[in-house]
Formats: sequence, C-alpha cells, structure tokens
Amino acid sequence: MKTKFAVIGYGGQGGWHTEQIKKSDVAELVGVFDNRKEKRTLAEERGLKAYPSLKALLADDEIEAVVIATPNDEHKELCEAALEAGKHVICEKPVTLSVEDFDEIAELANQKNLIFTVHQNRRWDVDFLAVKSVAESGDIGKVINIESRVHGSRGIPSDWRTKKKHGGGMILDWGVHLIDQMLQIIKSEIVSVYCEETHITNKEVDDGFKLMLTFADGKKALIEVGTYNFLPLPRFYMQCKKGTMVIRDWREEGHVARLKAWNEKEIVPVETASGITKTMSPRDDITLDEYNVERPTSDVHDYYRNFCKAIRGEEEIIVKHDEIRRVLKVMEAALRSGETGEAVKTSI
Ligand code: NAD
Repeated sequence: MKTKFAVIGYGGQGGWHTEQIKKSDVAELVGVFDNRKEKRTLAEERGLKAYPSLKALLADDEIEAVVIATPNDEHKELCEAALEAGKHVICEKPVTLSVEDFDEIAELANQKNLIFTVHQNRRWDVDFLAVKSVAESGDIGKVINIESRVHGSRGIPSDWRTKKKHGGGMILDWGVHLIDQMLQIIKSEIVSVYCEETHITNKEVDDGFKLMLTFADGKKALIEVGTYNFLPLPRFYMQCKKGTMVIRDWREEGHVARLKAWNEKEIVPVETASGITKTMSPRDDITLDEYNVERPTSDVHDYYRNFCKAIRGEEEIIVKHDEIRRVLKVMEAALRSGETGEAVKTSI
C-alpha cells in the first residue's frame, strides 16, 4: 500500500516533490497547500488538490506524511504543527536555523513516535557516491584531504535566499548539502571550523564561502561554494596516501592517479619561462597508474522508499537525527567563524 503524502509549500522544490511522488512506487499525492493563492490556483490548474488552509490539510486523516518545502525560517512551526497533527514529516534542508530549534522538533517527534527527517537528497548524487566509494575502498590509501566545491556564476537567487531572517545565504543553502556529504565520508570528530564568507553580490547574507574543517584524526576538508565563478574549479578533489582522485564536473566520471612506486628512475624536468623544475614535473607511468572510476548507480527515489518503510517500522531511517544535528552544529560554527574571522575550536 502506498503512503499518502501532502506537500506544504508549492514553489520550486514543492513542485519537484509533487512530481517525484506522482512517479513513485511507494508514495501517493493527496494534495498540497501553499499560503499564496496564486500557487494554490496553479496547483489546481495542474490537476492537484489544493487545500484552502494548513488547518484543512492537517485535519485530513487520509494524509499520513507531509513534505515541508517552504522558505527555511518557516520550517520549525510547520514541522511542529504537522507532528502535533500526527503526521510523519520530511522537511526540506536546512531543517532549522539553529540546533536548539532542531532539538525541540526532534523531541516532539520522539514523544509522538513519528518519523521526522530532512531531505538530504544529495546523498544520492553519483559524484559524491564515487568519491565515498574510493575513500572507503582504500584503493588509493587513507584520505588526507578532500575538497568539495560547487561554483555558479549568477549570484544567489533573488528571492528569500538573499535575506537573513528567512535563513538565506549559501552556507545554509548549499553548505548544508556539502557538509552532510563530507560527514558521510569522514567520520572522525571535528576539532576546528574556519570559514571565510564572500559578499560579492549580496551584503546581508553570504553569496559563497570557503569552509575548512580539521578532524581529530588529522584529516582535512575544504568545502567551497561560489556564485561568482565564471570558470568553475573541480567538483571534488581528494588526496590520499597512495593517490589522488578528481571529479572535474558532476556530469563526468571520476579520475584517479594511483601511486605504484614512490621512486622514479629518472625525473624529466619541466621547462618554465624562468627555469626548470623537477619538483613540479609530472610522474611517469612506471610509478603511476591512471584510470577512470565508473559512475555508481543511484536512484534518489530510494529516499522516499526508505522513508515509507521507516514509518512502517520495516527499515531504519537513512537520514538520522544525530547526523542532521551534527551538520547544523557545523553550520553554526561556520557562521560564527565567518563573522569573527577566527577559527572555532570545537568537538563536533
Ligand atoms: P520557493 O520560494 O520556490 O517556494 C517556497 C513556497 O513556499 C512558495 O510558493 C511560498 O508561497 C510557500 N510558503 C511560504 N510560507 C509558507 C507557509 N507558511 N505555508 C505554506 N506555504 C508557504 O522556494 P524553494 O526553492 O522551493 O525552497 C523551499 C525549500 O526547499 C527551502 O527550504 C530550500 O532550501 C529547499 N530546497 C531544497 C532543495 C534540495 O535539493 N533538497 C532544492 C531547492 C530547495
């Protein structure tokens, strides 16, 4: 039997969810609610049931679960209202603007014995899965450093995302995905968080950032989001003890250079305008193997499949409270570091 869903907030992402649910083998869409009349009319024009109010939606016993896809500052109140009404909840990211707010919702969900989770759909991205699989395989040795970047060139979308009170800015928008992915690869405790924000197109909130995480086991991570980058840097770059992996673009395969032997017989220097260098010259293929990493298979709809099984007690939920909380803690530290210009010493 399919789980019956309603979507709250029928904007860009709410529209995406309705389409996903309509295609789903496990979920069924009952209706939507948006607090703007024109969005409700649009939903009806597209053949969907639009509830006239949140109250009406939450009072419908047919609905077992809701997806909340409103601006970030609206999430807490809506999550709590849905849980109070006995609905299981998927909330869009970032779930709340503080760890404290998240804890309150999580406590309520536990009290009510309802599933409450966050839509960290980028755990199903194939670029991330490729890096994670190489890191875990040990094929190129232990991880030293991972760099994860997304670069766009159009500034931030000119909606609520430009406003602090709505939870705007790129740390909260894209940062939440990239931090979540990174913490799925590197499990060690975070001991230091340093963040530099950019404000090229927006003063009020960050329109990009560079975030440096140091882990207790010595690993390092750099997470960078840019919205004023006309030439993007690679999506992923991972240095390991026995090699390097790069994914230049999220539509491309990963490329690995694996060290076969440290010592070379002869190093051919590179000639530069002002002299030669052996230190920076490329390795020969006697000491280095290069190959592409096959793209893993992934189906983002497994997110819904897992959620529907979890509410029936048939599977453990994939996106867990402690993981969501950890990401929020990193974002809080990043915002603090961005503001003060200093590294935050921590244990997250
Ligand atoms: P949007 O502005 O396109 O849509 C938000 C909609 O919510 C609007 O139609 C607005 O009228 C409605 N709304 C606002 N307050 C409401 C309320 N109290 N009750 C009912 N409706 C309300 O924004 P968006 O791009 O769709 O983003 C929505 C959420 O989805 C954000 O949290 C965002 O971070 C998230 N998002 C997630 C992903 C992802 O890949 N996981 C991608 C995009 C957006």
